[in-house]
Amino acid sequence: MHKVLDTVQTLPVDPAKPTDHPSCRLCGDKLVEPFLDLGQQPLCESILTQNQLNQMEPFFPLQVYACKNCMLVQLDQYVSPDHIFTEYAYFSSYSDTWLNHSKAYAEMMIERFALGSRSLVVELASNDGYLLQYFAQRGVPVLGIEPAANVAKVAVKKGIPTTVKFFGVKTAEEQIAEGTQADVLVGNNVLAQVPDLHDFVEGMRLLLKADGVITMEFPHLMRLLESNQFDTIYHEHFSYFSLAVVERLFAEHGLRLFDVEELPTHGGSLRIYGCHLADPRAATERLEKLRAQEGIFGLDQMECYTSFAERVKETKWKLLEFMIQAKREGKQIVGYGAPGKGNTLLNYGGIRTDFLDYVVDRNPYKQGKFLPGTHIPIHHPDKLRETRPDLVLILPWNVKAEIMSQISYIREWGGQFIVPIPEVQVS
Ligand SMILES: [Zn+2]
Repeated sequence: MHKVLDTVQTLPVDPAKPTDHPSCRLCGDKLVEPFLDLGQQPLCESILTQNQLNQMEPFFPLQVYACKNCMLVQLDQYVSPDHIFTEYAYFSSYSDTWLNHSKAYAEMMIERFALGSRSLVVELASNDGYLLQYFAQRGVPVLGIEPAANVAKVAVKKGIPTTVKFFGVKTAEEQIAEGTQADVLVGNNVLAQVPDLHDFVEGMRLLLKADGVITMEFPHLMRLLESNQFDTIYHEHFSYFSLAVVERLFAEHGLRLFDVEELPTHGGSLRIYGCHLADPRAATERLEKLRAQEGIFGLDQMECYTSFAERVKETKWKLLEFMIQAKREGKQIVGYGAPGKGNTLLNYGGIRTDFLDYVVDRNPYKQGKFLPGTHIPIHHPDKLRETRPDLVLILPWNVKAEIMSQISYIREWGGQFIVPIPEVQVS
């Protein structure tokens, strides 16, 4: 559980914030006008216990800015990473899709970069060892760096050496002092949660061997805008990246990209390949192509962002129209999954137990608790067989195929699935 909710008095909020314009995390320019306002929202990973339901609950503005100077899309930071990560509840190993994805990545990397027993793969925000385990199984030495002590403990139990630290220049220097440098430096879905981008990327430059390779995966801003994925925006994710912005960030730290892949994960992600500026390897054609694509899409134009904000409102109206109609027909609607993104959608839509009786989630850490803000109870998936709902709203739509096959038994009583994004689909 989040410490932030146990001790409401000590919320790490800067008292100067209400009058202050935030500064861009990348270039330092003032951020004046958000292009999207998702309202006041609780921290989306702060699920609540029964006892906390009658207590004050902190809400913060969820407003999205695009920097007019460098075009980094970002939120103001309301909560320190210490609070986000202290007892981070996300265990990567609960998703089969994600495990398969990680295994395929490890095999590809071992092959492509000829990794072996003398290589070292270092992962930043290594979670419960979900990814490094596949390198370790093939005899490639690994090291995890993970700020959340509870998930790091799970990794160590699996035999994955893990240091409990935030990553940045200081941690990189400590590792170098111990003789550690990386042949492969991995950072998957971590950049969005980094408050000080420059410290983080400078740390990567230091920790990377002269001929080492960085790979990072992150949801692609272009796909987020194109497919209306506003529910992937939440306080814990400070920044949302395009290829162009990451190239600018890397260049400021003596690093460059030489390849990029587009992946279907998280609604459309990029896997970037980086190296030192002086590394002689050639850039791939697909990197050039994606740069051009981003230009055509208009990521460097404000209009791209304001039109997205209009589509977000439309999506909310359509989802509510459908659910109001279903409730008037006396249908029972429940939710599947208690991921962070579900909470942005539910809180923005004002969807509480008046629409969703409950949600189910496979993660035992979440069962018996309640969603932040909406206070919708979280149950074990067995609850579905008990109440036989008419409609199941899939909150983690990025793994909808996996979920639809896991609980395909709702068809036995005529149950249907609702996928809310990019727009309401019932099947
Ligand atoms: Zn900027």
